[in-house]
Amino acid sequence: MAIQNSAIVIDTHADTPQRFVDENFDIGSTDPRDAGHISLDKAQRGNLGAEFFSIWVEPETNQGHFARRTMDLIDSVYEQAAHHPDRMMMAFSVADIERAHKEHRLAALMGIEGGHSIENDIRLLRDYYRLGVRYMTLSWSNTNEWADSSGDIDDPKVQHHNGLTDFGKQVVLEMNRLGMIVDISHVADKTFWDTIAVTKAPVIASHSSARALTNAPRNMTDDMLRAVAKNGGVVDVNFYSGFVDEDYRKTSEPIGKQAGDAIKAFEEKQKAEGKSVTYAEIEHIQREWADKIPRPPFKSLVDHIDHIAKIAGVDHVGLGSDFDGVSGQTPQGMNSAADLPKITQALLDRGYGAEDIRKILGGNVLRVFREVERVSHEMQAQSH
Ligand SMILES: [Zn+2]
Repeated sequence: MAIQNSAIVIDTHADTPQRFVDENFDIGSTDPRDAGHISLDKAQRGNLGAEFFSIWVEPETNQGHFARRTMDLIDSVYEQAAHHPDRMMMAFSVADIERAHKEHRLAALMGIEGGHSIENDIRLLRDYYRLGVRYMTLSWSNTNEWADSSGDIDDPKVQHHNGLTDFGKQVVLEMNRLGMIVDISHVADKTFWDTIAVTKAPVIASHSSARALTNAPRNMTDDMLRAVAKNGGVVDVNFYSGFVDEDYRKTSEPIGKQAGDAIKAFEEKQKAEGKSVTYAEIEHIQREWADKIPRPPFKSLVDHIDHIAKIAGVDHVGLGSDFDGVSGQTPQGMNSAADLPKITQALLDRGYGAEDIRKILGGNVLRVFREVERVSHEMQAQSH
């Protein structure tokens, strides 16, 4: 706990904003029955210093109004911070994160998950930056009009671009100029390599694990890990059981398909009755199916941190939980942000020193963010 409490702990991905908007969830909740991963109490118990709240727009149900949903989710994070000014604050910079840490408040940052949110408009990208968004994942599981995704790369019905289009490259450079961190989680392999070739600042994988250990197409190969290290970036390990445990991934595949069918049936039924479907309702169905599979051991999660530290180096690994976005499917013992100190304990048990652990817990992300800010200032000075 001494190490945990001396660190600025940063998690780069939580889907809690879906709950803020769809369930009116209050982050100040102390309800013991709440199965959510994030609350101010849970964050405090785990000494979580900064959270990048995910601004994720489901691309099918929000077809035609991606920007509106993006705005609603952004608003929801501000509203939570406004309701709890003594325990939480909006943060837009490294300096803000450090100030929040000193004041024992949770720093709330925002990252857009999926380039479709910008509706192919570079001006909208700049507006999101002005509203405080500090990273953007170039794609979610859906290929958009300028970046291929790993989620549908094998689907012949989807029009692909062989990575990033020229506009996609322009988006990356504009993010560099603005000081918005480029996030390569979810993207197709070719999109990753195109991004690495184009970006002028370090990138992050906000919530990705290692493919050598768990063969999910959305995890990163060892070559990619080494490329992120060379780029000065950081890979933040995703806690989702299906991305950190190969046995779980294999078992969950058929069950995931059954859950998908059940969700589709539910959506059609609601549609026929003229009702909309919320993320919470979908999560509820997913959870029912997921509960049929035994949770993998805690060790699986730590194996991924360890592997990335060995392949990319200890300066290039961090935490990207995917809290509140995985239907409760995390390894045993990882039930909420309050359990983050268990990672510190596990790393100590494996021989990691305090300084390296502090880097993994948040120091590496802070270094990348600082460098992104520096590159941005430099690019803006050059354009004057
Ligand atoms: Zn995601």
